Amino acid sequence: MNADEHRTLRESLGVYALGQLPPGEATALRAHLDGCASCSAELAEIAPVVGALGRVDPAHLDVPPAPPAWLGDRIVARAAAERVPSRPGRGGRLLLAAAAVVLAGLAGAGGYALGTGTDPAVPREPVALRTADPAVEASATVVPHTWGVEITLAADGFRPGAVYRVVVIDDGGRAVGAGEFVGTGANPMLCNLNSSVLRADAAGFDVVDAAGRVVVHGEL
Ligand SMILES: [Zn+2]
Repeated sequence: MNADEHRTLRESLGVYALGQLPPGEATALRAHLDGCASCSAELAEIAPVVGALGRVDPAHLDVPPAPPAWLGDRIVARAAAERVPSRPGRGGRLLLAAAAVVLAGLAGAGGYALGTGTDPAVPREPVALRTADPAVEASATVVPHTWGVEITLAADGFRPGAVYRVVVIDDGGRAVGAGEFVGTGANPMLCNLNSSVLRADAAGFDVVDAAGRVVVHGEL
């Protein structure tokens, strides 16, 4: 990897999270993510955006939704530059609306497959989950990387607006942070979480609510 590649691919993360990156570029980006913890961490941060966009009702796209405050301007700006270059003023909103339509279609066609089924070459390991909250439906896979373990969590039923923390437990019982996400209620979310614990040293992971309760436990 060189610095140019890193900079170029990093700018594509938003479009990638929206599932809008052409297959060739997506493959290059995934290869880069394997070796770049910084880009992986950024992707984990913006992945919940996909879930938020899924809440948009396509029937009301003539009233463009306001992006959530935590949706980085750079994602919209970059996506607009990529997709709607001739209309810079409205590009971001149009892209957001278009993405919502795409996402609504994908959700109807199978929901959780979004963003995970695109690269069969990535070895994803299914994880047995124990869920303490009956409202939560969740499934997860992990990918072992050279820099640590990546968890992809597909779920609904986490309390809307509530912040959840994910920690990976290593063999010694130490809990290492893997990131946070905001619950999306009945709307499916897909969230990538990255931890510096290597797969060989990881015994499991916990999704912990604000009160410190373990809502979901994954056995590794
Ligand atoms: Zn990078």
